[in-house]
Amino acid sequence: MQEMISADGIHVPAAVLARGTGAMTAAERYGVLPMPSLAWTPEVEAATAHLYAKVSHVIPAIEWPFYAPYIKAINDLKKQRNAVILAHNYMTPEIYHCVADVVGDSLQLAKEATRADADIIIQGGVHFMAETSKILNPDKTVLIPDSRAGCSLAASITGDDIKLLRRRYPGVPIVAYVNTSADVKAEVDICCTSSNAVKVVESFGVDRVIMVPDQYLARWVASQTKIRIIAWKGACEVHERFTGDELNRYRLDDPSVSIIAHPECPPDVIAAADFTGSTAHMIKWVKDHKPKRLVMITECSMADNVASEVQGTEMIRPCNLCPHMKRISLPKILDSLVYMKDEVVVDPAVAARAVGSVQRMIDLKI
Ligand code: SF4
Repeated sequence: MQEMISADGIHVPAAVLARGTGAMTAAERYGVLPMPSLAWTPEVEAATAHLYAKVSHVIPAIEWPFYAPYIKAINDLKKQRNAVILAHNYMTPEIYHCVADVVGDSLQLAKEATRADADIIIQGGVHFMAETSKILNPDKTVLIPDSRAGCSLAASITGDDIKLLRRRYPGVPIVAYVNTSADVKAEVDICCTSSNAVKVVESFGVDRVIMVPDQYLARWVASQTKIRIIAWKGACEVHERFTGDELNRYRLDDPSVSIIAHPECPPDVIAAADFTGSTAHMIKWVKDHKPKRLVMITECSMADNVASEVQGTEMIRPCNLCPHMKRISLPKILDSLVYMKDEVVVDPAVAARAVGSVQRMIDLKI
């Protein structure tokens, strides 16, 4: 069962980095390094040949001499800086397979961020993910290669909106999808991801829970549990573009095709899919079922990255790119390592409150 709150339009807070006044910048603390050579040489070719084998099905050989010098330079500088790269499943294959140290969905990255044995975390993902890494790793330096990499879900709700919800629904627990700002995480009871949302909602043992900000994820969770869900009216601008009609056309073309969708999709898409699950659950489903032909209803790069891990499945990739994720590129990651930018700093008072809601989710071990 579901109840919807109408937001007064979408709030789009300025995508600014919270910087402490007078604090040294990351470039001042660590120093700037010389920009490495980006020439295509036999040494670069030899050093990256094993990585090209992983992406040769999606990157033509003629393009590799452009990518390979960046990949070698980034992997060398990571060691020099004692840095790790956390890459979301929506990163492009040359990032996901060739420079990332940890890959996964939001939950996996949030967990791995706490185990990262490094001084510096480079977030291959969007701003709320980098904030989450910083919240969980207050003593590490967290860099995002492009601080404009936002998210329509994170931009749809503020910490003040959560305070209003508390006044309107006193005593009702509030669960925030990890796709939210640190300000929002600081005000809610617990976070969730699309992997664990149903179990997080049920963990309170009450009959009514508020879920923010994704209306479609909330609706999907409501279909999986007896708990009444009160939803916010945010949406992922990438997944809400898919339609059930589009899926039905794939079935008409080939009735044997398998279709899997992300729960950020609208209900008519989910109704037309064979399976709905988080990015991690989709990867598992594909590996378990090994379908002959598969339509993956999610962001484009996710389908590319799954395709490289699964043999024998013909992938049909209806392509909706996340413009925010695509701001992260090899040249910008290299700039981050050379110039130590852009540093993500969360107000310590906000971080101290936000860490509780993230940690409570991790501690549930679901
Ligand atoms: S794909 Fe959607 S939810 Fe994910 S970062 Fe992009 S806009 Fe946000």
